[in-house]
Amino acid sequence: MNHIAHWIGGAESAGTSGRVGPVFNPATGEQIATVDLASKAELDAAVETAKAAAKEWRSASLSKRSAVLFKFRELLASRTGELSAIVTREHGKVLADAAGEVARGLENVEFATGIPHLMKGNFSEQAATGVDVYSIRQPLGVVAGITPFNFPAMVPLWMCATAIASGNAFVLKPSEKDPSASLWLAKLWKEAGLPDGVFTVVNGDKEAVDAILVHPDIAAVSFVGSTPIAKYIYETGTSHGKRVQALGGAKNHMIVLPDAELDAAADAAISAGYGAAGERCMAISVVVAVGEIADPLVAAIAARLPKIKIGDGTDPASEMGPLISAQHRDKVAGYIEAGAEQGATVVADGRADDLPKDGFFLGATLLDNVTPEMIVYTDEIFGPVLSVVRVDTYAEALELVNNNEYGNGTAIFTRDGGAARQFQFDVNAGMVGVNVPIPVPVAYYSFGGWKASLFGDTHMYGPDGIHFFTRSKVVTSRWPDPGTSSIDLGFPQTR
Ligand code: NAD
Repeated sequence: MNHIAHWIGGAESAGTSGRVGPVFNPATGEQIATVDLASKAELDAAVETAKAAAKEWRSASLSKRSAVLFKFRELLASRTGELSAIVTREHGKVLADAAGEVARGLENVEFATGIPHLMKGNFSEQAATGVDVYSIRQPLGVVAGITPFNFPAMVPLWMCATAIASGNAFVLKPSEKDPSASLWLAKLWKEAGLPDGVFTVVNGDKEAVDAILVHPDIAAVSFVGSTPIAKYIYETGTSHGKRVQALGGAKNHMIVLPDAELDAAADAAISAGYGAAGERCMAISVVVAVGEIADPLVAAIAARLPKIKIGDGTDPASEMGPLISAQHRDKVAGYIEAGAEQGATVVADGRADDLPKDGFFLGATLLDNVTPEMIVYTDEIFGPVLSVVRVDTYAEALELVNNNEYGNGTAIFTRDGGAARQFQFDVNAGMVGVNVPIPVPVAYYSFGGWKASLFGDTHMYGPDGIHFFTRSKVVTSRWPDPGTSSIDLGFPQTR
């Protein structure tokens, strides 16, 4: 069986804790690897190596850093297939979807190749007579990333591209459920010429995470995962003096107004609800049908469900793969029962589908007449279960979104530009789609939700990513003629 180690100092490094975790192929249900789970002592040793590397790396010229990023970009673009196959094997999502995740990660690398421009400060000549003021941005030193299972390639790339380009050493603690993509990225960084120790992978679980959160030499922690853990990371990390951005879970609503194009809305609900088996933080999990569109919309979604091809992600015909684990599949299936018990109409029950026997599969499920009190509405299900809530007016739909605990993404489907603009103005969510069901921002904007979907204030990647991984310094400077100096105990003024 394959064994997955850490990556420290530019080489694979076998764990010494004696603890390992299992890694499965979710499409077959087979355990395919074990992964080392680091102890606090192992994390501490890895940070020592990163610390030494950070000192050197911040001195590397901007053009040298940019050249490494360009090389990394070329390697990643030419070997997307290899990484996609790794993602599919351990996560289960279909190959085309895995390739999509790698492509979105690649965009972040492309953004970071522009680091000489992105690190520019400001300069004000003659702020006072003979005095210039300028700002510079400097790296933080050693920074850490803690990532979820559902995007094992893209989310590490969200973080490491900007963290490394801006001159930090980056320590990654990937999800223990699908860690191989991170090791593959580590090897690619080395091939691209990144000095050893600048990119580190420490595999592990809570013990490694807790060691990161209290380590005095880790200056910042970037986290993506579920809301309870995001809150814990934020509170613990900040109480240990760290800069923390912690992105949490979601319950993304798609509002469909009565004038929406019916087929386009139904297609979008299917794509965004069941893509990656609903295991996306930007998945649509609630369709809010406004007024008379509800009946035809539910019918149109239901009619499309039997056509979704469910199977092993390595089969090019498959459109939807399995869930990450047997436990998670069972938990998601439990929500179908709970929905029915609380009065939701089970339009399609994924448990009844003819599914591959092995593996952690669940069919696409549609629940209608869901109400805000039901557990299927309040919980993030994170599986192929789409709920439909029926309301009479736009105002009710908006209230639903704004009263929800989460505020990651949301979308509105309409032909009315005025209604869409009003929604964009009114809605309390970090990312809004207008006739776009999964509005993940492009790499030169930043990604982040509101409310319980994000703890901290900076969003991920893009301009916010550079901001998060650097700190600013303002220099006030003058070069007076010798001999013009005098004593002045007054507070310095500029006029
Ligand atoms: P998770 O919170 O269980 O795990 C995320 C990371 O935290 C992993 O590296 C894990 O090892 C670690 N972790 C888990 N439990 C911990 C604990 N008790 N103490 C310390 N560390 C712990 O999340 P997941 O199941 O891997 O990923 C799915 C979740 O991530 C969903 O809620 C999804 O919405 C969310 N997500 C959010 C975004 C976003 O951008 N907002 C993106 C992707 C995923």
